[in-house]
Amino acid sequence: MFRASALTVLMTLALACAGPEPYDMSAWAHLEAEPAPEAFEGVTVTFLGVSTLVIRDAETTLMIDGFFTRPDLGGLNILGKIAPDPERVDQGLSLGRVRSLAAITTVHSHFDHAMDTPLVAQRTGAMLLGSSSTANIARGLGLPEHQIREVAPGDSAGFGAFRIKWFASKHYPLPPPADIMLGTEVETPLVPPARITAWAEGRSDTIVIEHPRGTLVVQGSAGFVPGALAGVDADVVLLGIGGLGGMETAYQEDYWRHIVSEVGPAEVYAIHWDDFNRPLSEPLLPGGTAGGDFPLAMHFLEAKATATGVQVGLLPFAVPVALY
Ligand SMILES: [Zn+2]
Repeated sequence: MFRASALTVLMTLALACAGPEPYDMSAWAHLEAEPAPEAFEGVTVTFLGVSTLVIRDAETTLMIDGFFTRPDLGGLNILGKIAPDPERVDQGLSLGRVRSLAAITTVHSHFDHAMDTPLVAQRTGAMLLGSSSTANIARGLGLPEHQIREVAPGDSAGFGAFRIKWFASKHYPLPPPADIMLGTEVETPLVPPARITAWAEGRSDTIVIEHPRGTLVVQGSAGFVPGALAGVDADVVLLGIGGLGGMETAYQEDYWRHIVSEVGPAEVYAIHWDDFNRPLSEPLLPGGTAGGDFPLAMHFLEAKATATGVQVGLLPFAVPVALY
């Protein structure tokens, strides 16, 4: 039963992501943010695919997720297992110009967010913060306990001038059969290689990063808990749109209301839109010939930008963008 379910999940993900012709991203080039000026001394964000993000000021560097292995799920067989690829992790850190890192935290514990985080912490000396599931992913790869901190919604932690806060959120409602990957925990240290279902969701969080210059909200997965962000004011939201384009308009509107409208940013950048079966040595693209549901999500965001005055955009790959 479990084996069949894991297989159907793999097939669903592979079919959703595979496509014969690459999608042409040039239609969205006008939304791509400008790189930060060389001499910029404020806070920048660097996008490295999915919801892997480097956030830094002059003194301190933080990372969200840190997923670089990007295994090709379409190439997996029935018993296919995945594991972090140390070479790809090193390449990814070098693309993001990350040497030392104060902290890394996950939006949830699925493989496309948490799988490589223990290696990132080992290589950079970072504290890894997240749910008990993220902690067990770290333990499975031998990250020492003094580099692991379990956090819960309502917690906060300071690193340099940054303060990270965790808020209860919800995962995008994966359709069956992939929904077996929701609402479960990594209950014991996870030693790769393992099937993708071993990287259970754990808990999905909204991550708020405060800094004297401004506040950033990171929403990795396109889900929400009404009211969870009440009282949060943000300058910028990094908004996960994976799956959003395929949802009904009412859901898309609720997502915008409970995440974006709730915190009132001036700018929203879409994240978690790229096909993570593709390695970072190739350009980021959404899945499928027609881009899957990516164009639908982008049309929705453009309509919201027109209606609300919030500026909507995409982040260039591996290039720092000025936040504030
Ligand atoms: Zn997920």
